Order: sequence, then structure tokens, then C-alpha cells
Amino acid sequence: MNKITIAIDGYSSCGKSTIAKDLAHKLDYIYIDTGAMYRAVTLYCLQNHIITKDGVEVYKIEEFLDDMTIGFQCDPNTKKCEVYLNDENVEQDIRGLIVANNVSFVASFKEVREKLVSIQRELGKNKGVVMDGRDIGTVVFPNAELKLFVTADTDIRSKRRYNELRGKGEKVSLEEVKENLEKRDHIDTHRKESPLVQAEDAVIIDTSHLTRESQLDMVYELVMEKVEYLKSKIQ
Ligand code: C5P
Repeated sequence: MNKITIAIDGYSSCGKSTIAKDLAHKLDYIYIDTGAMYRAVTLYCLQNHIITKDGVEVYKIEEFLDDMTIGFQCDPNTKKCEVYLNDENVEQDIRGLIVANNVSFVASFKEVREKLVSIQRELGKNKGVVMDGRDIGTVVFPNAELKLFVTADTDIRSKRRYNELRGKGEKVSLEEVKENLEKRDHIDTHRKESPLVQAEDAVIIDTSHLTRESQLDMVYELVMEKVEYLKSKIQ
């Protein structure tokens, strides 16, 4: 089967990464979590006091972007991929609420987006990739063969993310989590640089009432239909 590019975009915590990981596993494709890349850059900015209460020192971000390396290392057995920033595994540190509260701000900078988009294009250049984020079908791979736009009810998304964070031992309230999701969605959909919008040719998947298995079946079927269609066109 010819490999294709699958772009998955949508709001925060609506199940994009679960769909993307499950689909990549089933298809034996690579999975790229672009949110992890924006989170890693944010972590660096916080640790190095580039973000202060007065804002951000953009020239310092630019200096850092010139020298940084960012990528993923995957365990061949579990297929679990973790993000590395300058050769350091930052997977755990990027998932907390402090990074979540600052990431959309950092992701709104043109300099940050240009650098990460070029790395993402390189990572996906050979197809056989499932990439999730906010601008994958619109900016990173506008010619992706299959685009999905994932949504879910805000209360359901908040509860899911709350359970995930509590499961990791983070002391957060449901209200804080909901506030963070709504704030990120607002910044992500209203920013000047590559705002989150549904690509015209994206298929909408509402995961509010879908089980993990049923959403995987649904998207896998879409992939198969697309691959069959592409095959029929070249025959
Ligand atoms: O996917 P995740 O929730 O981890 O993404 C964290 C944040 O990174 C998003 O809220 C958004 O601000 C930013 N992001 C982005 N573009 C992407 C992926 C993530 O702006 N392609």
C-alpha cells in the first residue's frame, strides 16, 4: 500500500493524539506530536526566564531557536515516542499545567512557528506519517492526502484532561483545567500567525461520545477509502 500523509488538527484535549497514536500504530506509520515541540520550546523559555511577567524577550527566543535541536526518540518495542530538546528527554516536564498555561503564548510567535514548521516538514517528508497539531492540514502539509479536524464537548475535554493530570499526581482543579483549555483555544484560534482553523477539505470527527476503539475504526476506514481512491486514480 502506498503511504500517505495524515494531518490531524483540532482543539486542545479533544483526543487528537490518541487517534493519531492508535492510527500510526495500526498503519505502521510514524507519529509526530507537534504540540510536544511547542511545549518543549515553552519549557526552555520558562527555565531560562525568557518569559517574564512583563512578556517575552523575542531576540532571546531567536538566539535559542538558532542553536536548539528538537526531535523524538521512539522505543522500538513499545513504539512510545518521547520528545528531546538539546538531547535531553523533556517528555515529563512539558505535560504540566505551568507549560500548558504559557504554550499558546509562545506558539503565537512567527519566529517559533517558522522554525518548528520547517522541522515538521522535514520529519514528514517521506510520507507514512500521522502528524497532529493546530496547523498541520492548513500550513505544514496543505497537500496531505487525508485531513481530520477533531472536536469534542468542552466539559468532556476538561474532564478527560483533568483525569489525566490527576493521574500523573498534579494537584489541579477541574475549573483550572477548563479555564486553561478555553484560554488556549481562544489564543490558538485568534492568533495572527497560522490560527487554528478547519481546513476546507478536512473530515470532522467529534469524539465526545466515541470509544477509543470506535474512533480508531472510523478513521482507519477513512484512510482505507482514501488509499483505494488514490489507487483507482493511477490505474
Ligand atoms: O497539542 P497540545 O495541546 O500539546 O499543544 C499545546 C499547544 O501548542 C497548543 O495549545 C497550541 O498553542 C500549540 N500548538 C500550535 N501548533 C501546533 C501544535 C500545537 O500552535 N501545530
